[in-house]
Amino acid sequence: MADYKEMWKDLGMDLETHDQLCEVLPQAFTDVYLSQENRPENMAYYDFVVSEIHGVRPAELIEAQKKGKKVFGSFCIFVPDEIVFGADAIATGLCGGSQFWVPGGEKVLPTNTCPLIKASVGARLDKTCPFFRIADMYIGETTCDGKKKAWEILGEDVPMYVMDLPQMKRRKDYKAWAEEITDFKNTVEEFTGNKVTADSLKNSIKLINDKRRALQRLSNFRKNINIPISGKDVLLISQIAFYDDPTRFTQMTNALCDELDKRVEEGVSVFPKGTKRILLAGTPLAIPNWKIHNIIETSGGAVVCEEMCTGTRYFENLVDESKDGLEDQIDVLAQRYMGINCACFTPNNDRIEDIKRLCKEYKIDGVIDLNLKFCNLYDTEGFLVERELKKDGIPVLGIETDYTDSDVQQLRTRIGAFIEMLD
Ligand code: SF4
Ligand code: SF4
Repeated sequence: MADYKEMWKDLGMDLETHDQLCEVLPQAFTDVYLSQENRPENMAYYDFVVSEIHGVRPAELIEAQKKGKKVFGSFCIFVPDEIVFGADAIATGLCGGSQFWVPGGEKVLPTNTCPLIKASVGARLDKTCPFFRIADMYIGETTCDGKKKAWEILGEDVPMYVMDLPQMKRRKDYKAWAEEITDFKNTVEEFTGNKVTADSLKNSIKLINDKRRALQRLSNFRKNINIPISGKDVLLISQIAFYDDPTRFTQMTNALCDELDKRVEEGVSVFPKGTKRILLAGTPLAIPNWKIHNIIETSGGAVVCEEMCTGTRYFENLVDESKDGLEDQIDVLAQRYMGINCACFTPNNDRIEDIKRLCKEYKIDGVIDLNLKFCNLYDTEGFLVERELKKDGIPVLGIETDYTDSDVQQLRTRIGAFIEMLD
C-alpha cells in the first residue's frame, strides 16, 4: 500500500493501533482470496481496492471534501443513496465487519450486542478506520434496537441523523417512509447547501440503478451450472459496492461481466463438477467478513446466492426511472426501498417467498441460514425460515457465529457434514 500516514494523521486516527490492522489484513486476504485458482482477470481491480482499502478511496473522499462536497456514511440498505448523490454529495457504507473493532464497541455497548454494531461503533471511537473519520454526517435508521441505541452514543461524537423506518408494510407505512425520505432530503439539502431537484434526482436514480443492474448481471452468471466466479469473489464485489465510486464500480463490474460472458461461452467453472450449490440467507456480511464463504468453499460447496443485504436485498428491484416530479420520484423511491424484506418487519413472509424463489432460480442444493450472534431479529425469524424451507423439501442448516475465529473448526465440521449430506 502507498504511504497514507500523513492523511491518517490529519484525520486524527490512532496510527499505532491502526498499524496492527494493516499488518493482519493482507495475510487474511492472501489466504482467503489470492489462494483461489482460475480467478477472472478482472478481479484485479477489486484486489487493488482491498490492497489500498484505507488509502485510495478515503483520499478521493478527502479530495471531494476539499472541493466542497459532503460525505454521508450509512449502515443500512434502507438509506436512499439517491438523495445524497442528488444533492451533489457522496454516500458511503460504514458497516464494520472485523473483530478488530469489536472490543472498542464493547467499551460502550453491552457485550450481547451484534458484532456488526459493536465493530461499527468501535471503528469510530477507536479512531482506526478512515471512512469513519471522513464522513461529515452519519445516517442511522430505526431498524433494530441495538442500532437505535448505538446511534445515541455515536451521536455524541459525530453529527447523526436517524431515519425512522416503519416496521410494518401497510399503506400508511409506505406513506410514512415517503415522508421520511422527504425529511431526509431536506436535511441533506440543508447540510450540503445544495438543492435536490427533479433533474438531479432523476440522474442519481439512474446512477444507483445502473449499479444495481451491474450487480444483477453479475449475479445471473451464478445461475449457470458451470459457475464462472466464486462466491467469495462475488461477496467481495458486493462489499466494495457499498463504498466505491458508483460510476467506476458499475464500469468495472460490467467489464468483469464481459469476461464472464466469455467464460460461460467456453463452459468455464471455478468449481469441480458436482460441487454443491449453497444459498446463504440471513444477516449481512460487512467487509472483511469472509469467514463463512471461505469455510463453505473449502468444504465442497459453492456459494451461488446470498439472500442478504450484502447480496440480493441490495440490488434486486430497481427504482422506477420514468417519474419526473420530485413528489412522484420520492414515492417510487419509497416503494422500492419498502420492497426490501428485512427481518425488522412484521410479518415478513415475503422474505421466505424470496428465499424459495432464489432456491429455484439458482438451482440450490441446500440453504445455510446464517445469524450474527445476538441478532434477535434474524435469529427468531430463522425458526420460520427453516420450517418453511423444510416443508418444501429444501435442506437447511441454521448457524450462528460472530467475527472471531474461535468457532471456525466447529463450523467447518458442521458445514462439511451438511454439504456431504446433500449428496
Ligand atoms: S439486515 Fe435489515 S437492518 Fe441490517 S442492513 Fe439489512 S436492511 Fe438494514
Ligand atoms: S445483524 Fe441484526 S442486530 Fe445486527 S445490525 Fe443487523 S438487524 Fe441489527
